[in-house]
Amino acid sequence: MCDVCGKRVEKYWVIFKNGTKCCDYMCSVKHPFDIREVVNIEDFSEPRPVLPKKKGEVKFTFKSEEELLQLNDDELLNYYEEFDNFRRYQPDKFSSDYDNYKEDQYIKEMENEYYLSTSDEEDGLFVSENNIY
Ligand SMILES: [Zn+2]
Repeated sequence: MCDVCGKRVEKYWVIFKNGTKCCDYMCSVKHPFDIREVVNIEDFSEPRPVLPKKKGEVKFTFKSEEELLQLNDDELLNYYEEFDNFRRYQPDKFSSDYDNYKEDQYIKEMENEYYLSTSDEEDGLFVSENNIY
């Protein structure tokens, strides 16, 4: 059973090491996603075969969940292909970039929380200033 939408399918898009399954890529986008936790990594490069990449750097930029949700089906498949290529051909760079990406995401979350809490405080100040005058 898909852990995101609850659908039962014959073949899952992605299965994670902890047993979590996603029926298709849309569900896998909604699920917190770490390709290093993927069990069926060979299946995962389907439906399009991963083309052997020419030597050299694979350029890849991680996208945020929000950005991923903006992509259409083809763009999303393409993104995962590149993701997989990057992981496969430059595992070291992948790891360090991925850690940076995770850290960025974390910092963004913290900033959002900070922004929300400070704007609350400013509202409070604003009200009390109004009361003074
Ligand atoms: Zn699903």
